[in-house]
Amino acid sequence: MTDGRKPQTLAAQALGWIDDDTKAIVAPIHLSTTYVRDPDNQYRNGRIYARADNPTFDQAEATLAALERGHDALVFASGMAAATAVFQALAPGDHVVVPNVMYWSLRNWLTGFGRQRGLQVDTIDMANVDAVASAMRPNTKLVWIETPANPLWTITDIAAVCAIAHARGAAVAVDSTVGTPVLTQPLTLGADLVMHSATKYLNGHSDVIAGALATREDTPLWQRIRALRAQLGGIIGPFEAWLLARGMRTLFPRVEVACRNAQRIAEHFAGHAKVAEVLYPGLASFAGHELARRQMRGGFGGMLSIRVRAGESAAIATAANVQVWKRATSLGGVESLVEHRASVEGAGTPVPADLLRLSVGIEDAGDLVDDLEQALR
Ligand code: PLP
Repeated sequence: MTDGRKPQTLAAQALGWIDDDTKAIVAPIHLSTTYVRDPDNQYRNGRIYARADNPTFDQAEATLAALERGHDALVFASGMAAATAVFQALAPGDHVVVPNVMYWSLRNWLTGFGRQRGLQVDTIDMANVDAVASAMRPNTKLVWIETPANPLWTITDIAAVCAIAHARGAAVAVDSTVGTPVLTQPLTLGADLVMHSATKYLNGHSDVIAGALATREDTPLWQRIRALRAQLGGIIGPFEAWLLARGMRTLFPRVEVACRNAQRIAEHFAGHAKVAEVLYPGLASFAGHELARRQMRGGFGGMLSIRVRAGESAAIATAANVQVWKRATSLGGVESLVEHRASVEGAGTPVPADLLRLSVGIEDAGDLVDDLEQALR
């Protein structure tokens, strides 16, 4: 039912899937790890062994491919499994350009294991397109973007970076976990791959660890990524895949409410006596605001950060005093989370020590504002 239907409709009905045999409108969970061969020794149904794939993945993958307007999608055991599959599909000696501000664990993997296995990794200010152009080398195979980027919410111009990278023969992958397919479709802006920590908004209920990639076209790089998943087995279990597909059905209303709440919280605390700065792409004062207005549709996301004027210990004390917000890592769930991010990232982080990262959920915005007010007091 993808032809001409709005993405909200595709997501809510998981592409309108109906089981041919039972007429069920909810897909079953397939637990089988193996599939019967045809009598002549062929596997005509295309399935051999469940380390490569599982029919329970189909709905989440097809829905994500449709929402991202891509050719294909794959789910993985985690966002990190999805992201590292892209880099592992490159060859030793290949050069990659990645942002200074990005999900810290992937940055650590790239500068640790990534470099150990021969990747040449350059970290740059990805918001500065001139820096992207000067970072390109003859052996640059991939430019990695995260936008909005965790946890300063730096906005990168996807189309501009794609033009530079493609002119030099490099692919572009976008971590769009925070953007979500509701707000940004990187593949339509020229990106080759889009990655999600599906643990976050796609699932949306803080009860599944999962990752996903979608591709604009079937390319040799995509085939290597698919083969890596099959060989290394970085897949999710059938029940997690089913929960993910269920979570994606409510993606649009969850993201829309989170965006509204985040905008209200950002506006409330901008200029607040106890807050030195609010980092949120939806504020006109934010450096990437104009670009975000062009690149993101329908909202600026559910993630923001505040810098507590009285410094690090006051920021930690604020997180200690919340009652409605939950003091926890992660993001993109229906419940609001607050985290002192520098403590998590440790030495070498570009994150200021006075910063609290806020993942805004779908609760009443007034309750969230009041709770932060009392915690800041
Ligand atoms: N990308 C972003 C932007 C994230 O926030 C995270 C996790 O916090 C990841 C990737 C990694 O995802 P996962 O925790 O599912 O491995």
